[in-house]
Amino acid sequence: MRRMPEGVDIAVIGAGTAGCSASMPAARAGLRVLIVEREKAADVGRKVCGNALGLEGLAPAADYVAPPDGAEVAARLESGTFYVRDRKTGVRLPALGVVLNRLVFGQRLLADAVSAGVSLLDSCSCVGWSDRESTSVRLRFSDGSESDLTARIVIDASGFRSVLARNGGTTHDDPIARTEVAVAYREIVALPDPIDERTGGLLVLAAPGAEQGYAWVFPMGGRLANVGIGTTLSSVTGSLREAYDAFVAGRPELRGAERITGGAGMVPVRRPLASLVGDGFMAVGDAGCQASPLHAGGIVSSIRAGVMAGEQAVRALSNGETSAAALWEYGAQFMRTIGAAYSAQGVLKDLIYSLSNDDLAFLCTQIAQSERLIQALQRGSFLPGAGEVLRRIAAFTRQPRLATRIVSTSKAMATVRHHYEDYPSSPSGLASWVGRGEFLRRSRGRQRR
Ligand SMILES: Cc1cc2nc3c(=O)[nH]c(=O)nc-3n(C[C@H](O)[C@H](O)[C@H](O)COP(=O)(O)OP(=O)(O)OC[C@H]3O[C@@H](n4cnc5c(N)ncnc54)[C@H](O)[C@@H]3O)c2cc1C
Repeated sequence: MRRMPEGVDIAVIGAGTAGCSASMPAARAGLRVLIVEREKAADVGRKVCGNALGLEGLAPAADYVAPPDGAEVAARLESGTFYVRDRKTGVRLPALGVVLNRLVFGQRLLADAVSAGVSLLDSCSCVGWSDRESTSVRLRFSDGSESDLTARIVIDASGFRSVLARNGGTTHDDPIARTEVAVAYREIVALPDPIDERTGGLLVLAAPGAEQGYAWVFPMGGRLANVGIGTTLSSVTGSLREAYDAFVAGRPELRGAERITGGAGMVPVRRPLASLVGDGFMAVGDAGCQASPLHAGGIVSSIRAGVMAGEQAVRALSNGETSAAALWEYGAQFMRTIGAAYSAQGVLKDLIYSLSNDDLAFLCTQIAQSERLIQALQRGSFLPGAGEVLRRIAAFTRQPRLATRIVSTSKAMATVRHHYEDYPSSPSGLASWVGRGEFLRRSRGRQRR
């Protein structure tokens, strides 16, 4: 067995967006932080991802994580076009955001963490708990040798395939269903002609082969684009790679696209884990199921959650505490903010993928016409304010059945949002909170039928 560093205050498993962000507050506070990363340091940030995000969501984390800039930004988007299934005409939506050069961004986050005092153990995988009670984890090195690492707090930031969070890490067992996982195939391609980076993005909702998801083209500046197709694991019927090829063949913008790199990836698309902490333990990012169920965006939420977790770990350790109760506030803060918005967005997703082509196209057109509605959707609300409700309902009178479903979806979103805003302030309230959530899930099931 190799000798492991002793006296580690916080061990962070994974150097992705969540892990690097989580390590920052503790390193700045002078705590001994060790990041354990499966890949070589030079490959941190190499990830199959759409890499698109809105910068405004990062503002609350800015004290610790500077927003992407310079070479980290491949393109700045101003709008994108939404298509529905195989329809030829789309709807243009304002979509302010950036597309990342993910490797450059990932390398910078890691460099910032190391400059703040974080130690990195790369080419080393965490394979599980070696002793849950003493927060000791088992590590495996690239030569096959193993060692145990003990820390006062372990933060699981190891992404979708987390080996700690769902293996007794948190205070509540919360298995992930195949309906709650998105799988995607994505390529970075070079096109014969440059695409307009500001307006050239497009998204095809429920594209053929991705009936519970979407296909995308995100410009990366010049001739480069990030192109992919993804859907829930439970809805994959054939080969996703073939669905991707068919999508590319059907889009005039992608004619002559040459593959530079490609691969598949998975992301949880569901409500966050009901409990994000345990004794001496916190789950952040995909390990805690913190991406949006609606659009699978998880970069912003993983960075924000990382900072929330890191700050709470500092508070707890400064009081000499590491219990689930002492770490609880991190989970509560996430649930009441991003968790509430994203869980409500999951209800809207159920509506979107159950609509006919016509209804879905009509809905996209309505959304495109109201910036206020778009902003409200980002917060997990559908019909914001009484005046907006009346105006929207008037627009929907051409489609009374759709209007009824939208009103009931809006109510269900509000109920789910309030449920998450009402997240318990200590572990003792969790069981009853989860019980009330079961009721919500049953009513959503009825709504889907
Ligand atoms: C195809 C696809 C497209 C996406 N598109 C977008 C998008 O356009 N916009 C957006 O915001 N989000 C998108 N997402 C989601 C986003 O990528 C994730 O939500 C986000 O990267 C989560 O960050 P993380 O740090 O939790 O996990 P990750 O980025 O996966 O990082 C986990 C880190 O842990 C390391 N690791 C894993 N296991 C171990 C182990 N056992 N021991 C040690 N280290 C380990 C990994 O090597 C990695 O460095 C997409 C996801 C996929 C799969």
